[in-house]
Amino acid sequence: MAVRQVRYEGDPVLRVKCKKVNEISPRIKRLIEDMFDTMYELNGVGLAAPQIGIVRRIVVIDDYNGAKYALINPYIVSEIGEQESKEGCLSIPGYYGYVKRPSEIHVKALNENGEEIEIKANGMLANILSHELDHLDGVLYKDKAYEFAKLEEDKELSDEDE
Ligand code: ZN
Repeated sequence: MAVRQVRYEGDPVLRVKCKKVNEISPRIKRLIEDMFDTMYELNGVGLAAPQIGIVRRIVVIDDYNGAKYALINPYIVSEIGEQESKEGCLSIPGYYGYVKRPSEIHVKALNENGEEIEIKANGMLANILSHELDHLDGVLYKDKAYEFAKLEEDKELSDEDE
């Protein structure tokens, strides 16, 4: 298990437009494993490569409800509607905010085996995808939040709030 150091807001690596992955090399596969390890260690539902200092278009996701993906070079095919999303971010610990996200999102990507995959998501999974894909373009949820505040002590985000 290789948990990597998470980068925090203020680190310029979080503001970079990430580069495409050209080849799913053994090094990229190891990186994906480390991203899952890091995400699980921190009880996250998603992690983007720049959050561990790698400026490549890779995200990992697990909504703990059956949707577990490594997405390489993901892109949005379409998004519709609007929903309110209460969010936190591993790169902005101790805070939460409310963001408007699409209520449905259609994403295509390659998986860790180089196969094309397609995800049509709504609800919480749509929020996670939208949040993580933003990271690949240097966007943090805080930029879009219409409410942003410090979490009270002894109070954690509940599952439905992630
Ligand atoms: Zn985030």
